[in-house]
Amino acid sequence: MAIQTQNPATEEIIKTFEPYSDAQVDLAIAKSVVAFEELRSWPLEKRAKHLKKAAKILHDEADKLGKIVTLEMGKTYAAAVAEVKKCAVGAEYYADTAAQHLADDIVKTEAKKSYRKYLPMGPVLAVMPWNYPIWQVIRFAAPALMAGNTGLLKHASNVPQCALYIEDIFKRAGFPEGAFQTLLIGGAKVERILRDERVRAATLTGSEPAGASVASICGQEIKPTVLELGGSDAFIIMPSADIEKAVEIGTTARTQNNGQSCIAAKRFFIHADIYDDVKARFKDSFDALTVGDPMKDGTDIGPLVNQDALDTVVAQVENALKDGAIRVTGAEAVNGKGFFFTPGILENISKDSNAYHEEIFAPVALLYKVESLDEAIEIANSSPFGLSSAIFTQDKAEQEQAINELEAGGTFVNAMSGSNPHLPFGGIKRSGYGRELAAEGIRAFCNIKTVYIA
Ligand code: NAP
Repeated sequence: MAIQTQNPATEEIIKTFEPYSDAQVDLAIAKSVVAFEELRSWPLEKRAKHLKKAAKILHDEADKLGKIVTLEMGKTYAAAVAEVKKCAVGAEYYADTAAQHLADDIVKTEAKKSYRKYLPMGPVLAVMPWNYPIWQVIRFAAPALMAGNTGLLKHASNVPQCALYIEDIFKRAGFPEGAFQTLLIGGAKVERILRDERVRAATLTGSEPAGASVASICGQEIKPTVLELGGSDAFIIMPSADIEKAVEIGTTARTQNNGQSCIAAKRFFIHADIYDDVKARFKDSFDALTVGDPMKDGTDIGPLVNQDALDTVVAQVENALKDGAIRVTGAEAVNGKGFFFTPGILENISKDSNAYHEEIFAPVALLYKVESLDEAIEIANSSPFGLSSAIFTQDKAEQEQAINELEAGGTFVNAMSGSNPHLPFGGIKRSGYGRELAAEGIRAFCNIKTVYIA
């Protein structure tokens, strides 16, 4: 894939970048090793001071960086600015809490003193996706740098300007030269880096095939990995729910980020007693969304990221309809320039249909009518994915059952799934393993050393 900025709203290719040569990559790894020696020697307060500076730059330049995000991947400008501001908050969070997460953890044993010590590992490769092009990177970079690791970013090939901007932010924030570097390379160049002994670990956020490839190479090289992959999250609505709120939040949960979010609600399980009412409300709510220029105020949904994404969802919808699904509304490509697609709803999804098992990475909600919570959970858990989940109900027993039985890395009750720096984030099953954010996120790439002093 060419490394280039293509505006998904106009299809115009704005800028193309020369990929880094192997020699440039090798030099970057060498710099990363040198920077690691310096960064690990910095006291935590010094790392925190510089991370706070990065947070301030993110906050102050949210408008400018937001424009680049919208230009490169098509989310609405308002959403892009909100994403960059969230990054400032995430960076602040780790600047403020790293000392607590990384403090020596004394354990009473027969030794004079014994404890866990959190030490950095070295250069870590981060392979990142375009859908939250700043947030995905910062939620790796902030804890990595606070722990004393250095970062090498292989960003998605369609967001090179975002990738270079992030590198520049860490430079301007005063981190050592080489502490955080962007490598403009395609996916095929990742293996060589993973096999380089100077690179100690890897994290990948993206699709299953990319995750499986990185994990298998790191398996051979015995290197730790964190994988944040796809999802097909359940969103359950039971009769006791506040239906107006459930539909409003469910609409956002499915259509946020132009429908291209890993933790979007993708499958809606609605109790039979309220199904017709909820379906009608969802239809009205989806129909009221404005699709159009992502830079314009008032636009709810911008274009999909590229022609491939548009072709994929069109084929998924066609297949589902062929297998007996019914179109409630939308779910169609828009004629003309740009990769626009109308938010849509399908129901009556056959078990044999691909749509039943696959992730739909576009604003298409699949509705399932269920007779009970047991049935909702059973179908929800039949998915190969297990990223997050949500349930809307006032019934405490139903809330408990969903929390205990839904196979997912998170369950949100009367709220949509989201990522919050204070809480761990990640999936199970084919959605990946390991956790980002919170204490788990910063310890993921630490050598948790056992210290025993007799
Ligand atoms: P993708 O194709 O897997 O791309 C993600 C990153 O992996 C890009 O940098 C890509 O580089 C690279 N890549 C692709 N194939 C590779 C390979 N064989 N070896 C090494 N690197 C490789 O993912 P996408 O389709 O753009 O992103 C959407 C997917 O990401 C969805 O499934 C979504 O659910 C998931 N996602 C998950 C989370 C989470 O936190 N769990 C968050 C966001 C997105 P190129 O761009 O150069 O191909």
